[in-house]
Amino acid sequence: MTTRSVLLVEDELGLVLTLGDRLRAEGYRVDSATDGNRGLDKALRNAYDLIILDLMLPGMGGFDVCRELRQHNVSTPILMLTARDRLVDKVLGLKLGADDYLTKPFEPDELVARCEAILRRTSDGARSIERFTLGEIRVDLRRAEVERGGEALPLVGKELDLLRYLAEHREVAVSRQELLDRIWGYSSEVSSRTVDVHVVALRKKIESNPKRPRYLRTVHGVGYKLSLD
Ligand code: CA
Repeated sequence: MTTRSVLLVEDELGLVLTLGDRLRAEGYRVDSATDGNRGLDKALRNAYDLIILDLMLPGMGGFDVCRELRQHNVSTPILMLTARDRLVDKVLGLKLGADDYLTKPFEPDELVARCEAILRRTSDGARSIERFTLGEIRVDLRRAEVERGGEALPLVGKELDLLRYLAEHREVAVSRQELLDRIWGYSSEVSSRTVDVHVVALRKKIESNPKRPRYLRTVHGVGYKLSLD
C-alpha cells in the first residue's frame, strides 16, 4: 500500500487544518494551497493522486484552475467543493473535468468517503501522470523530454515508455519481467539486460548522480522503483 497524496486548494484556513488533519489520519500525504494560482502551480509541478478544489478562491477561481489543469493534460482526479448547492455549478464543474463535487457544509467523514470512491474509480493500478519534477529535473512525458539545468533532453526509443510505466507505477517495485512484457511485448527477443541498459540511459537524464540514483532505484531481487519527490 503506497501513501496517496492529496492537494487541498482551499482558502478557509480552518477547513485546511481540519480537513488536512483528517486526511493525514486516514494515511494521505497532504499538501495545500490557499489560492487558485498557487494551487494551479502546485498541481502542475507535482504529482498528486487527488486534488480537492474549492470553487470560491481568491485569485483564480476553482473553475479556471480545473479548466487549466485539464488543458495542460493533468488528469489527476478533482473533487470540487462548492458552497452553493446550485445545479449550474455542478454541471459546469463536471463539464470542465471535475470528477465529483461536494457541497459545503459537509462532514469530514463524507469528504473521506468521496475521496476513497474517486480513487477506487480512477485507479486501475496505474496512476496517470504527464509531468513531474525530480529535484531540479523536470520531466514532461507528453513532450517526451527531460529538462535538466535549462537543457531539454529528448527521451528516445523505449526510454519514454519505460519512464512512463515506472511513473504510473511510482513507489512500487516493478520486476524486469513485467517491464519486458509491458513495454517490449511478450514475443520480443530482448532479454532483461535490455531493461537494465535502458535504466542506465534514463538515469543519465533524470538523476543528478546516475551512479547513486535517488529516484530510479534498483530493488534487489525484484527490479526497479521510481520515487518522486
Ligand atoms: Ca472558498
